[in-house]
Amino acid sequence: MSSEEDRTKINWNYRFRSFKGWIPIIVLAYIGFTQYAFCYEFLYKEVNKILGRRSVFIGLCVVHGWLSFTLLSSWFFIFYFGPGKPPGKVELFDLEKYVRTGNILTQKLNDNSMMSTTDVSLNDTITRIGSMLTIDEDEKVDRRDNNNNNSNDTSLEKENEGFSFIDPPEIFFCDSEGLPFWCSTCKSIKSLRSHHSSWYNTCVPKFDHYCVWIGDLVGYRNNPYYIVFVFSFWLLFLFDVISMICFSSKLHNYGKRHILHPVLILMYIVDCFWLLMITSLVYTTVKHLINNETTMDMLQINKRRKYLRDEAIKKTGRWGVMMQIFRGHDIDDHSVVTPYERYINVQHPVLPNIRLVIRLKMDEKPYKKDIWSNIKDTFSIRDKYKSLSNSSSILQFDNESFPDNFKALINEKIQKNDFRIMSNVVPTNIN
Ligand SMILES: [Zn+2]
Repeated sequence: MSSEEDRTKINWNYRFRSFKGWIPIIVLAYIGFTQYAFCYEFLYKEVNKILGRRSVFIGLCVVHGWLSFTLLSSWFFIFYFGPGKPPGKVELFDLEKYVRTGNILTQKLNDNSMMSTTDVSLNDTITRIGSMLTIDEDEKVDRRDNNNNNSNDTSLEKENEGFSFIDPPEIFFCDSEGLPFWCSTCKSIKSLRSHHSSWYNTCVPKFDHYCVWIGDLVGYRNNPYYIVFVFSFWLLFLFDVISMICFSSKLHNYGKRHILHPVLILMYIVDCFWLLMITSLVYTTVKHLINNETTMDMLQINKRRKYLRDEAIKKTGRWGVMMQIFRGHDIDDHSVVTPYERYINVQHPVLPNIRLVIRLKMDEKPYKKDIWSNIKDTFSIRDKYKSLSNSSSILQFDNESFPDNFKALINEKIQKNDFRIMSNVVPTNIN
């Protein structure tokens, strides 16, 4: 094993300590039970002995065995690889100069009556006024003076003492103020779609979810095996149920005295129940795969939707909301800002010291490429992340992960004035 691989692997101590395994043990025991019930009670005793279909018995046994093997080996690899750690730390972004220039520009725009002229695009005005602000002019602004005016800046500076700063990348995910997400435990900017896992005491890039069925967290390292696991799990139960439906009818007709073994009846019921549950899991897995999104992305969308629905219920009551939905009224209204919004911070396309904060619509998927690229991404991301070493290589990779269609969408939003200048001066005329 190379040292590079070790860097992204979570320490086994944490892995064992975090294992809460009674559901996975039940799942494992049930898979063991199906080997006995399906292969011995059903295939060997019923299909082979009673029906005398030896070739069917062997064929179905091989398929069942192969699916079980795929299931168990993918499960093993989910554990073996683990969700993964970030390949390195990302230092804080030096955003102060952007905030200072943003403040000056917002102030000038507030003072400027041009803003009331509707036929002039906000972006054009910003570019025109912003281009008149030279870097020298920003530097002339006394920092202490600026800090006295803006308490946010002072607290930010105090908080950031002792940290090194780097130039921010072209695009990064941020909060409503335009600040990047910082993990105080890992002492790093959250990059590569990371979320912190308190169980593993580390940020996990491309954090997906904690799967109760398998008893482990799904992250970028074990995501490909998780997909194989979900599919083989689903196919195994589907195959068992279909085989039993096909051959049980024959058994039923075989002799009046012959009834299905109680073990098989139990297996049939449990398989059908699980098949229903796993079908929804397969659906979401496929959806995430082709949209290049994670369960965390979906959770945020659901939280936002729930928030809007709860707010609507407060106003019009449950019945009123149902009627609104019935009339085709959009509950997921983008114009309403909730605590569950996604924002990105982008470099202004023309002005070097201006950054823009853009709110994303919930259906705007920042990493979505064409289907095959998305699938390839999911299955090859482990090797790509492994080769990243320092802040700049991580940030460069992060920025290259945004496809051209997303960058085009950002430009379109800028042209439509759908942004806020990163500053801590409250704009008066700007939406
Ligand atoms: Zn962390």
